[in-house]
Amino acid sequence: MSQSVPTRVAIVTGAARGIGEATARKLAADGMAVAVVDIDEGACASTVTAIHDAGGTALAVGADVSDSAQVAAAVERVVAELGSPTVLVNNAGVLRDNLLFKMTDDDWETVMAVHLRGSFLFSRAVQKHMVDAGWGRIVCLSSTSALGNRGQANYAAAKAGLQGFTKTLAIELGRFGITANAVAPGFIVTDMTAATAARVGMDFADFEKAAVSQIPVGRAGRPEDVANTVSFLVSEGAGFVSGQVIYVAGGPRD
Ligand code: NAP
Repeated sequence: MSQSVPTRVAIVTGAARGIGEATARKLAADGMAVAVVDIDEGACASTVTAIHDAGGTALAVGADVSDSAQVAAAVERVVAELGSPTVLVNNAGVLRDNLLFKMTDDDWETVMAVHLRGSFLFSRAVQKHMVDAGWGRIVCLSSTSALGNRGQANYAAAKAGLQGFTKTLAIELGRFGITANAVAPGFIVTDMTAATAARVGMDFADFEKAAVSQIPVGRAGRPEDVANTVSFLVSEGAGFVSGQVIYVAGGPRD
């Protein structure tokens, strides 16, 4: 006799747009109730509406992932309005690119706060619900920049740090039926890559063409490419995949 699977409640941070939006929409299409978390609750409306229009369940939640009290309040709201979360996608991110000699203290602290502290705070707040359920899935967004990238000492350090963080969660939480994995995208067309093109003074089409010339599959990545990979990692069937870093880059590196 097959056992029925409960409706899973997922939290996706930074889900107002880009990779987070695509991931929230995909997890909702997979049948999960999705908390669409972003720093500006109003900005979550389009993602939530798209999920509702497709017949899914979603809730907009405003929270700064780097603020402990806001993270705790956000998780409490999710529990009250959707149920206990057992899927977490730590996706919220920012760039503060600069060459090392020009990088300010604030450039460094902001990137660490959003990527590393944000993933730590949300994972810590959600893990007890996963432990209680005896089941959980955590995915952190790393990047090919973890391997080193000019102008991104802060971001590369944070994205490499997330890989160590994720592997440690996998080791600590595995005994409770919880997996933790990282997805490391290469060049994905979003507002973030558009901002990078603007920073280096390039037209986006030229910037994309230059990136694609280095990508073995011969195209730029789309948010859906990342969302599909996250969908697998948080699925029921992925329970023996943990502590891994999956590069979603159209090749072994971008
Ligand atoms: P994006 O389009 O810039 O979206 C990021 C979202 O995170 C935005 O809605 C942003 O809100 C939100 N956010 C920023 N700071 C936040 C905070 N403190 N609390 C809550 N939400 C916050 O970025 P993306 O390209 O989709 O990237 C998503 C993730 O993938 C990031 O972790 C990024 O580093 C990673 N990634 C992206 C690429 C790529 O090529 N695009 C490649 C590798 C890895 P605001 O707009 O209000 O700031």
